[in-house]
Order: sequence, then structure tokens, then C-alpha cells
Amino acid sequence: MKQLEATPPLAIARGEGVWLIDTDGRRYLDAISSWWVNLFGHCNPRINAAIIDQLGKIEHVMLAGATHAPVVELSERLAKLTGLGHAFYGSDGSSATEIALKISAHYWRNSGQVEKNEFISLKNGYHGETVGALSVTDIPLFKQTYEPLLRHSVQVPTPDARLAEAGESAEAFALRCADALEAHLVEHAATTAAFIVEPLVQGAAGMAMYHPVYLSRARELCDQYRVHLIADEIAVGFGRTGTMFACEQAAVRPDFICLSKGITGGYLPLSAVLTSDEVYAAFYGDATARGFLHSHSYTGNPLACRAALAVLDIFESDQVIAANCGKSAQFTKILGEVSAHPRVRHFRQCGMIWAFDVADTVADFASHFYRLALAQGVFIRPIGNTVYVMPPYITEAAEITSLTQAILGSLAQTESMK
Ligand SMILES: *Cc1c(COP(=O)(O)O)cnc(C)c1O
Repeated sequence: MKQLEATPPLAIARGEGVWLIDTDGRRYLDAISSWWVNLFGHCNPRINAAIIDQLGKIEHVMLAGATHAPVVELSERLAKLTGLGHAFYGSDGSSATEIALKISAHYWRNSGQVEKNEFISLKNGYHGETVGALSVTDIPLFKQTYEPLLRHSVQVPTPDARLAEAGESAEAFALRCADALEAHLVEHAATTAAFIVEPLVQGAAGMAMYHPVYLSRARELCDQYRVHLIADEIAVGFGRTGTMFACEQAAVRPDFICLSKGITGGYLPLSAVLTSDEVYAAFYGDATARGFLHSHSYTGNPLACRAALAVLDIFESDQVIAANCGKSAQFTKILGEVSAHPRVRHFRQCGMIWAFDVADTVADFASHFYRLALAQGVFIRPIGNTVYVMPPYITEAAEITSLTQAILGSLAQTESMK
């Protein structure tokens, strides 16, 4: 709160495609898709129209004892896309994590293995900040204060390619990290319910990227040691890494997939956890307590589901995955000037995410860089010394060109502050 006095929040009056417009009429390029949620721009006419249409029908009805077309259609389309045929809805990403963890532990309980109730996650992983989700999150700043409230969980080494040894390939390093996962499972599989992982990119860790072989190996190990694999695709799902879901790049089907953020194109809070027939079957029975009891007031909200359906329509009609493939190659070229900068380290890219670390810079680099970029009409918020670009998919090359200039300008200005 005190920091807000030095850096007042941007008062946004309107949005228009990739632009945020403040109450004084100044325009800012939303280079981070409003915390990774926006896919097709602000005030997108097609998503607006879907929500307005739904508003005239039914805004909300509880999803216990009632149902509605948007949630049925969304479940069917997500099932087709993920290969996981059963959906449970929440209102945000953290809820999705909670739901997946609870279903996993409950599955083992229903299967007569009550002792399988521990969770594993990756070092520096992020899965949300409610108490259960924070237990598997590994970001000290968010976690330490609440440690006494949290349940114990185990972090295995991250395959973050920046941590590879000199001369070691990202793939070899990923395999070495998978060996560490196996070493843990050998000892603890009997008490482990699930391994939860952000596929390909650890977002909150600072866009740490890793080789897909880690995921394929993790899938094999989870099968071998009878542990669920939970893919937290809350940030990376819906095309962010270049495929509809990041797991596809490792040809992996997880036992659970958590979706949120881009699911509604950044319009309304919604999350979904999809799971397999096998998990579903363990809950099927007469006893109420055998079922998954997780009551959630706004579960499957029709307006949010319609926004999500409009998003899926755009993916199909505009062939977004294919179009983004061309765009990401083109944008990487434009951002090449940044990658060549003498203070830039580990320039990396995955689908529609670009990131780099800034070496020997000023203290409090992130807030300085934020303010400098803002003055040049770009809304971008580094994580520590990591600058990342995660633009809406409707961003054009010309916008990336001016973004590149703003990044270079801000880098130069932070340099002169030293
Ligand atoms: C953002 C995020 C979450 C939490 O989602 P919220 O909607 O902010 O609760 C969980 N996991 C990952 C990977 C995320 O990026």
C-alpha cells in the first residue's frame, strides 16, 4: 500500500484490442495480456456479443440439480480438445488447483489407499495462493509468511533450462531432473497422491522454460509408480506455448488438467478441472460421501461459459494456433535486437511467450523498468530481473516493433540510473 504512493495504479477507463486507455486518454500496449488472461484483445466484438446474447437468456443458475446449454457445450468441447471427458468448474485458477488436489487424494481414498495423500511439485513452481494451492507453490515471497498454515509438500528439482550445466543440453538436463523425480517416487510413491506441474513454462518463477522430454518422462514415471499427473495449464493453456495445450508438445495426457486465465479470453473468472474416466469411475456410487463434495456458488456460470465458447469459436474460425506459429517466428525476429543486447541473458521463447534476464542492473529494477516503459506507452511488469512479453494473440508486428524500441529504451535508461 505504501508503494502505491510512489507508483500509483493506472486508472483504466477503456480497452481497445491490445490497448489500455487511461482516464486521461493515454494509451498503453498491454504487453502482458493483463496478467496472462487476455487472448483476443480488450472489448473483443465477438466475445462481447456472446456475453450480451447470454445476458438476455440466463445470467446464472446453480449447477447443483440444474444445468444449462453453455456448460454442457463447453464441457463437450473441452473434453474433445483435452481427451479428458469429465469436467468440474471453479471460479479461478487457485480453485482449480484445490479441486485437482482434492479429487486426487479422494480418488486414492475411494480406491482403498488412504495413505496416498501427499503431493509433489517442482522447485519454483506456482499453483495459486489459497491455502491448499500455496502448499504446492514454491515461491518463498508468497509462501513464507503463511508457512504455519500450510500442509507439507515436496519439491523436486526444476528442469528450468537456465540451470543446465555448461555444455549440457536442455534435454539432457531435463532427463537428469526426471531422474531426481524418480528417486523421490522410488521411496515415497506409497504415500504420494499426485505430481502437479506447470507444463513447459513456469510462469511466476519468471517464465522458466524447459524441454518437453521432462513431461514425457514424468508421465512414464507417474504411470510406473501409480501417482497422478496434474497438468496446471492455467497459464500455458489455450495456445500460449504454441499448441492448444502445452502437454501436447510431449504427447502427454495428464490425469488432470487445470484450466483458467485465458479460458474466457480474459473476460470473466472461470476455471475447469478435466479428468479421466478412470478417476470419474472411482467416485461413482450410491454413498454421497463417495462423491466429490466441493460446493461452489458460481460453478459453471453461463456468462463465463459463453465467453469461453466464443473463445473456442475464434480459435477455430481464425485458425489461431496456425496463425500464431507464423506470428511467433516473426515476433522473435523483431525482438532479436533485444536478445543481442549486452546486458540481456537467457533470451528465451516458447509459443507466444518471450522472456530474458537483465544482468548487473539497478536495485529495484522491476519497478524502474515498469515506470520507464509506461512512459513510452507500454504496460509491462518484470518479475525481478526477468522481463517478459506475453501479448494478446491479435498483436501485430508493428506493435511488437514499437514494443521492442520501448524495451531497448527502458533498458538504456535503467543503465544510466546506475
Ligand atoms: C495464475 C496461476 C494460478 C492461479 O490462478 P488464479 O486465478 O490467479 O487463482 C495457478 N497456476 C498457475 C500456473 C498460474 O499461472
